[in-house]
Amino acid sequence: MRWSRFYIPTLKEAPSDAEVISHKLMTRAGMIRKLTSGTYTYMPLGLRSISKAAEIVRQEMDRAGANELSMPMVQPADLWQESGRWDFYGPELLRFKDRHQRDYCLGPTHEEVITDIVRGEVRSYRQLPMNLYQIQTKFRDEIRPRFGLMRGREFIMKDAYSFDRDQAGLDASYIAMYDAYMAIFTRMALNFRPVEADSGSIGGSFSHEFMVLAETGEDTVVVCKDCTYAANIERAEVLCTGDECDRLDTPLEEVSTPGKCTVADVAAFLGVSEAAIIKTLLYVADGEPVVALVRGDRELNDVKLKNLLHADTLEMASPEQVQQWTGAPVGFAGPVNIKVSRIVADNELRLATDWITGANKGDMHLKHVSLKRDVKLSGFADLRLITEGDTCPKCGGAIALTKGIEVGHVFKLGTKYSEAMNCKYVDEDGRDQTMIMGCYGIGVSRVVASCIEQNNDKDGIMFPPPIAPFEAIVLNLDTRTDDVCAKVDEIYALLKEQGVDVLVDDREERPGVKFKDADLIGIPMQLVVGGKGLGRGIIEVKDRRTGEKSELPVDGFAEAFTAWKKTVYAGWGIN
Ligand code: ATP
Ligand code: MG
Repeated sequence: MRWSRFYIPTLKEAPSDAEVISHKLMTRAGMIRKLTSGTYTYMPLGLRSISKAAEIVRQEMDRAGANELSMPMVQPADLWQESGRWDFYGPELLRFKDRHQRDYCLGPTHEEVITDIVRGEVRSYRQLPMNLYQIQTKFRDEIRPRFGLMRGREFIMKDAYSFDRDQAGLDASYIAMYDAYMAIFTRMALNFRPVEADSGSIGGSFSHEFMVLAETGEDTVVVCKDCTYAANIERAEVLCTGDECDRLDTPLEEVSTPGKCTVADVAAFLGVSEAAIIKTLLYVADGEPVVALVRGDRELNDVKLKNLLHADTLEMASPEQVQQWTGAPVGFAGPVNIKVSRIVADNELRLATDWITGANKGDMHLKHVSLKRDVKLSGFADLRLITEGDTCPKCGGAIALTKGIEVGHVFKLGTKYSEAMNCKYVDEDGRDQTMIMGCYGIGVSRVVASCIEQNNDKDGIMFPPPIAPFEAIVLNLDTRTDDVCAKVDEIYALLKEQGVDVLVDDREERPGVKFKDADLIGIPMQLVVGGKGLGRGIIEVKDRRTGEKSELPVDGFAEAFTAWKKTVYAGWGIN
C-alpha cells in the first residue's frame, strides 16, 4: 500500500472533547472521525486495525468450534416482550416504530434473536451442543458516551451464544470460550487479566470479565498479591471475621449537630473517627423502600445490595422520600425508629457497638446506638466495597486495586432465555428439555482503543504487530531519486513476499513530517530508505516500541530484516 493512495488524514491537534489518550491519538492518526455523540466513522487506517482484531477473534472462535452467522440489527419488540426484557432494559435500548406502527429496537445484544433462531431449528439432543457467533455493529444509547471508541453508542461486538443439553455441557462450553478469550487477548499482545465478575443474584462463578489493565479504565479490579485471585470490585467478597460485640448499657442520647449532614462533618464536629458512625443509606428496590447500613468510613457496594434483595431495579431514595421515611432532611437518617421495615446491615457492624447514627430529626444525631437493642434489623450481609487493607477472600493475602477496561465477558446464562422463550430439545428418552445457554461478548472496537491506552508515548501510538494497521512502514526519504525509489519498491516486494503487511510513505513531504507521522500512527517496524544510507550500503530501521534504531545492510537485507523482525516481535512477547 502506498500512502499517496491511502487516506490517512493525520492531525496536529486532538479534538477538544477528547478526554483519554486513545480518543486523542485515534483522531490525530486519522483512524476515526466523529459523526455524532458516541458514533464514529472508522477511517481506512482505523478499519484495518479493527478488522485485524476481528480476524483474530474469528480464528479463535472457529478453532473453539463456534460457527459464524450474522443476525439483523433491527429486532422486533415481540421477542423482547417474550423474554421480558422490553420493560426492563431501560433507555439504553433504542426503540422505534415502523410504518405499520409496529415496535422495534436496535440490537444492543442478541439473546432474543438467537434463541428464536435455535428454537425454530434445533429439535434433537443430537444437534447439541451448538455455539453461534457474529461480529457486528451494536447500538446502545449509553447515558454517557465518551472516550471515543471506548464507550460508544454504536460499536462493534463479537457476540457468541452456546446451547447445551445440561449443566456439564454448559461448563464445557464456558471453559472453551474462556480458553479462546485467553488465546485471543494473548495473540493481541495485550496486558490483561481475567477477573471474576458479578453474576447477579444467582451468585457463584458464573461470569468472568477480561480486563485490559490501564489507568483510564472505568472498572476497578481487585487483585491478590499472593495468589491468582482477581475480581471486579462489584463482585469482590469482603471477609469479615471476629466475634460479635453488641452489648451496651449506656442509654441512647440525642446530640445536636447543626448543619452537619455528612459523615466527615459529624465526625469532626463530635471529635470521633468516621468508623464510629453508621452511614444510613435509603434506597428504593423494585418500588419498595429499603435501608442499608455501613460503617461511616466504608462505601456501600450497590451491586451486592441489589443481589441480596433479588431486585431488578435499585435507586437511591429521593429527598422527598427521605423526608417522608425519616421525618428529617437528607443527612440525618438513622435506623432507630425509621419508617422502613427492611433494614440490612453490613457484616462489619456486628463487630462493634456504641454507634453514632442520624436521629431522624433535622440537625440531630443519636449516640450510644446498639443495633441489637435499638434497631429492628432484617439481617447482616456482605454489603460494602472491598478496599486496600482488606484481605483476599481466597487466600487471606494482601489485595491491591487497579484500573481495568472490560474488553470481554463470558457469562453462564442458564435457562433465563430458553425458559422464557420456550427453547427446547428432545432428549434420548423422548422427553422435552430446556436448553442451557451461555453468552460471550468481546468489544472489538473497544479492544483497539484499549490497546492504545496501554501502548503509547508522547509521539503517538505504539501498536503491537497483530492489530497494527500495517506491520511495517517504509519511509522513502528521496522520492525524486530513481535509485532510492527502485530500492523502496524492491524492499516493498520483498516484505510482501515474506508476508509482512507494509505501507510505503511515498509522499512528497519533508523527512521530518514522515518521521512524525510514522511515530503517530504507530506502525511497529519503521524502515528508512534514503540516498545517504544507501550510499553507505545501509537501511536504517526503528522499533517503534523501544525507539531503538539499527542499521541493516543492503547486501543480505532479507536475512538481516528477518532477524530484526524477530527481535521486534519478541519484544511484544510474540514468537
Ligand atoms: P460496560 O460495563 O463497559 O458497559 P457491559 O457489561 O455493558 O460493558 P456487555 O453487555 O458484556 O458489556 O458487552 C460485551 C462487550 O462489549 C463488553 O465486554 C465491552 O467490551 C463491549 N462494550 C459494551 N458496551 C460498549 C460500548 N458502549 N462501547 C464499546 N464497547 C462496548
Ligand atoms: Mg454497558
